[in-house]
Amino acid sequence: MASKGSGPVTETDAVVVGLGPVGTTYDRKLVDAGIAVHMIEIKDDTIQGGGGSRIANQQSGLGSFNVSNHLGQVAIDDISSPWTFSASRRHPKLERCSLFNGDEWDTLYAEAEKRLRISSTAFDGSIRHQLVKRTLQAADHDGGARELVSMPLPVARNGSGEEGDLEWTRAATVLPQLDTEANGSVANGLLTLHRQTRLTKLVRGDLSGGGRVESALCRDFETDKGFLIKAEIYVICAGALSTPGILHGSGWKTDADGLPALPVASWVLSRDLVNTVPKDPYHLGWNEMAEKHKRENFDDAIPIPLKDLGPHVGAPASERYPWHAEIYRNDDATTPTAEAVDRRMAVDLRWSTYAPSSASGGKGRLAYSDEMTDIYGMPGPIIELQPSSEEADVRRAQDMIQDMCSVASKLGGMLRHATGTTRAGTSRDDSVCDKYGRVWGTDNVVVGGCNVVPAGSACDPTLTAVCFAIAGADKIIEKLAPKAAVAGKN
Ligand SMILES: Cc1cc2nc3c(=O)[nH]c(=O)nc-3n(C[C@H](O)[C@H](O)[C@H](O)COP(=O)(O)OP(=O)(O)OC[C@H]3O[C@@H](n4cnc5c(N)ncnc54)[C@H](O)[C@@H]3O)c2cc1C
Repeated sequence: MASKGSGPVTETDAVVVGLGPVGTTYDRKLVDAGIAVHMIEIKDDTIQGGGGSRIANQQSGLGSFNVSNHLGQVAIDDISSPWTFSASRRHPKLERCSLFNGDEWDTLYAEAEKRLRISSTAFDGSIRHQLVKRTLQAADHDGGARELVSMPLPVARNGSGEEGDLEWTRAATVLPQLDTEANGSVANGLLTLHRQTRLTKLVRGDLSGGGRVESALCRDFETDKGFLIKAEIYVICAGALSTPGILHGSGWKTDADGLPALPVASWVLSRDLVNTVPKDPYHLGWNEMAEKHKRENFDDAIPIPLKDLGPHVGAPASERYPWHAEIYRNDDATTPTAEAVDRRMAVDLRWSTYAPSSASGGKGRLAYSDEMTDIYGMPGPIIELQPSSEEADVRRAQDMIQDMCSVASKLGGMLRHATGTTRAGTSRDDSVCDKYGRVWGTDNVVVGGCNVVPAGSACDPTLTAVCFAIAGADKIIEKLAPKAAVAGKN
């Protein structure tokens, strides 16, 4: 149906909260199916800026860890950067959960990659990318058993492939109707945008037994007015910490684990390695590029053009190396370089292995404080982490660190990505929602995001979260699209 009413109470088919990659996937699919959506986003820059956002988080209770065996999460305050960099598929045996079968995963990943515009070739013209990749391939003492790849990334290349020619996926890539600055109705009245608007809580009829949500209570920060939206379905994609926070604030109790071990380090390429560039050891045309650079910048001691892109090389998790490894550099504010180091000489290393399940000893708990609120006035998340002491988990974490040091030594902190905080499962006993994000015990609340992805991931989570969103949106369409079609005819 088209949305009705513009006063304090509005009626529509669906409310979708959050304009990250997951929320926009829901918006796009529902609107394309003729379902009327009210989109609520607390910020403004997500739509107009170069990418997604992460809500400001507060945390405490990290406890103490040492680098060889730790789990943890550092929340990053209000970063305006592309939503995501690496976008790998989960390893079929190690990382994928069995909620979908192999064929279903392949279909979901293919659609998610198309929607987020994933490419593995955007950095192929970069000297530094090839230098890192070729060096590590040449130094592989495992006879090629370890796969080294150009990372799959949500980026399109326009032109030469130098800095500035890259177009990272952002909200308006997934949902082109967002390329308007105005709030209000777009897409023939099917999509209504509420920027700078907070979803404060879901108003429920019967708190004890779950039941249906009757409306969404929102606050428009621009007018400083509250209003209600009544919908058939409420889809909450507010990020891995804020989504359970909204459920908590609406009367549900949640628990969480699944924060992956993730050591991060910055490294400087060795001078010897960089000096090989003018010799063009892999016959990739570096000599000509280095000569041209020298002619134009005769006093630059580094034989790499100023606009050469950073490397994005990775080794996906495998049974032999059960962790995800990335050697990368984003020459922007998200990965600052020490002042003394030319940014072309720096690379970042990021290794992550899957979190152990609670059953094997590791525990992460997410609680919410009613006294401590975040900058938007929502309940403040408190993360409590207890690393696993199971021998196999400790050994895997130690082996991972050793592997990172060994790779780093060939080339010359700090944790993030909460997953599973409203995880999907098969029953109310092991999860918050089913594989379509439908919260157990209600029939009209769906959650989306990395919070839905069950623990067990070494690789970055966003692509997989979008797979869950695609499956969840298809289920909503099955339910609502026939009604929307009938309403449209009337
Ligand atoms: C520095 C950094 C690097 C990263 N790199 C990678 C990577 O390489 N690969 C990868 O896969 N992932 C990466 N991530 C994680 C990635 O950003 C998230 O997985 C992804 O953004 C999650 O998408 P989402 O749509 O679920 O949530 P988000 O992108 O967090 O979007 C949620 C939206 O909801 C809004 N919101 C929150 N609360 C409310 C409310 N009450 N009312 C209204 N709106 C609300 C927020 O403002 C936000 O725009 C990185 C994260 C960081 C911080």
